[in-house]
Amino acid sequence: MSFISLDTDVQYLKGVGPWRKKLFNKMEIYTIEDLLFLVPRRYIMKKRIKDLKLDEEAKVNGRVIGVSTRRTFKGNILEVIISDGTGNLALAFYNLTPALKRRLKFEWGEEVGAEGKVTLTKNGLSFIHPSIDRQGIDSKILPVYPLTEYLHQNDIRKAVKNAISNLESIEETLPSYIIEQEKFPAKREGIENLHFPQEFHYTIKAKQRFEFEELFYLELLIALQKRRARKKGIGFKKGSSLARKFFDAFTKDFQVRDNPLQGEPFELTKAQIRVLTEIYRDMESSYTMHRLLQGDVGSGKTIVAVLSMLKAVDSNYQVAFMAPTEILAEQHYLLLKGYLPKIGVRLKLLIGSLKPNEKREIKKEIENGECDVIVGTHALLEEDVKFKNLGFIIIDEQHKFGVMQRLRLRGKSPNCDFLIMTATPIPRSLSLTIYGDLDVSVIDEMPPQTGKIITKWIGERDITKVWELVKDELNKERQCYIVYPLIEESEKLDLKAAENEYELLRKSTFKDYKVALIHGRMKGKEKEKVMSNFRKGKIRVLVATTVIEVGVDVPNATCMVIEHSERFGLAELHQLRGRLRRGKDQSYCILVSGYKISDIARERLLVLTKETDGFKIAEKDLQFRGPGEFFGTKQSGLPELKIADPISNIKALTKARNLAFRIIDEDPSLKKDENKIIKDTFFRKYRDKLSLISAG
Ligand code: ADP
Ligand code: MG
Repeated sequence: MSFISLDTDVQYLKGVGPWRKKLFNKMEIYTIEDLLFLVPRRYIMKKRIKDLKLDEEAKVNGRVIGVSTRRTFKGNILEVIISDGTGNLALAFYNLTPALKRRLKFEWGEEVGAEGKVTLTKNGLSFIHPSIDRQGIDSKILPVYPLTEYLHQNDIRKAVKNAISNLESIEETLPSYIIEQEKFPAKREGIENLHFPQEFHYTIKAKQRFEFEELFYLELLIALQKRRARKKGIGFKKGSSLARKFFDAFTKDFQVRDNPLQGEPFELTKAQIRVLTEIYRDMESSYTMHRLLQGDVGSGKTIVAVLSMLKAVDSNYQVAFMAPTEILAEQHYLLLKGYLPKIGVRLKLLIGSLKPNEKREIKKEIENGECDVIVGTHALLEEDVKFKNLGFIIIDEQHKFGVMQRLRLRGKSPNCDFLIMTATPIPRSLSLTIYGDLDVSVIDEMPPQTGKIITKWIGERDITKVWELVKDELNKERQCYIVYPLIEESEKLDLKAAENEYELLRKSTFKDYKVALIHGRMKGKEKEKVMSNFRKGKIRVLVATTVIEVGVDVPNATCMVIEHSERFGLAELHQLRGRLRRGKDQSYCILVSGYKISDIARERLLVLTKETDGFKIAEKDLQFRGPGEFFGTKQSGLPELKIADPISNIKALTKARNLAFRIIDEDPSLKKDENKIIKDTFFRKYRDKLSLISAG
């Protein structure tokens, strides 16, 4: 074999070739490096036959001393007896197909390796359908890899073995001071021990090293991002008279409009005051703010956002308020429109579905500084939106935006203050990583509410009972949502189903009430009209796809029916349900599902009937879905983790994070000799991510 390096395509390894290459690619293994970091799921030991124990998995080498075929009512059975001098072991193969028969030809006296689970049959100790390996891989401990169809354990083992023995040099990627400090194996040794260790415990140290290394470089990226983002920014004026004026008007109105507390004045919760203090302090400082505001659905993030943005307007800066959907942007706009003009703040809405000339007009006003607060969707990110003096950016429901979009916006206004809001209450360890470049404020207290939310899970067959309950609510002058899932891959079919169901409900069950349909495929203007009629109470029953998921706030809607609830994720259901519980009365959330649903779906629905705390639900969600969901590049924009699982290994994450941040603090451009390896490795690893950093 010619010279290979870590970057070499796997197909050039002996025994791989173009056909197996495809199988390896399926497992996301493209290069030798990918192959070497395929972590074995477990290991099995090579054993002498006399040391075998019942039920354990093991590998045995021996000589064939007997071959026979038996006919039974189940088909043909091939039985092979092997011996290694310490004892005999029977290998049994059932249901011999012609193809299998051709592969399983055993010669008397032939040396074979067999791998399987030890069972007891009438032939004594046996392996049933063991995997057979005739060339033999010489190692006391054998790795067991995750597989894909048509790819066998031994294909991978041989490829890995070949790779290791043909790599001339494996460049070290951690500086010696870290290796010494942590007592890690060197890189080559680590790789060998990960796959073919001499002693089992070597694998643990090896795995630790590569986990740590992966987390360390990820945290280094975050540390650099955070450092670059820390720029001289705007020091906003102390206090805010506009915020005061807004608050007085809003809360006075709130008492009349909704009366959730029956005449008591609206007061901010302690948690709202605390986070507002943190935000104001950041805004007044002369550095830029990058703060994440976390709070469960209904915890009252919007008012905190408004009170913060008005502080920026007080200092004569423009504010961009970004929401993930047009409906939500419109809702924020409608709320603000009721108050801001009265206190002299100029407000505009900029969304994609406006007419081109309207958009042009608004963009001109933004550029000329003729408006103070601009509410919008990601349309605000478009190249041709130029602000006159943007000073403050708020992003609502951040979990719908990726890091990429966030950084792009940052790049647009490098010295703006940022407030990012999310209702996804991810555990702290994780948020440190996903939002590692941000400071975090948490609203951990819900506004006082007299009403409760009751969640019920009901089978399809009892749907008439559900409609009765809905009618009861409607007869109390309340309003109701009926939600249908839209699953991306069958979106058209689902939409059709929702439309049909809507027609049915409108014409029969709810024929005495005004019913309307809203879904993501509708034009912005149509959606806006439906939403505003629903808000005004002109529409009583709103049949919706998940477009209402985030942030929609209609206090009079006290009832939500979620159809096919087994098809939604836990977090999504929690978000949906969060549209309720906004008034003084009891609300109902009814999860309707079929009967044949998976255990996980069942578990999910059960969690929801019992639990209302967003943090607890998020933790469960994490258990169900695993960390991958959060670390997928789509969600977080972060590099993917292949080896480390920071959720189950918070200690390693914390250690890696502390070290990375300390190094960047002491040696921000990695100029020191001792950090040269870090610098080289980092730049090789994150070539494609670096533009992001400079954008920030
Ligand atoms: P979210 O955090 O999900 O965005 P919202 O900001 O939409 O929540 O607030 C939910 C509801 O609670 C709104 O109707 C809002 O006016 C109300 N609210 C917010 N803060 C308080 C408070 N301190 N006391 C009573 N009601 C509040
Ligand atoms: Mg909100």
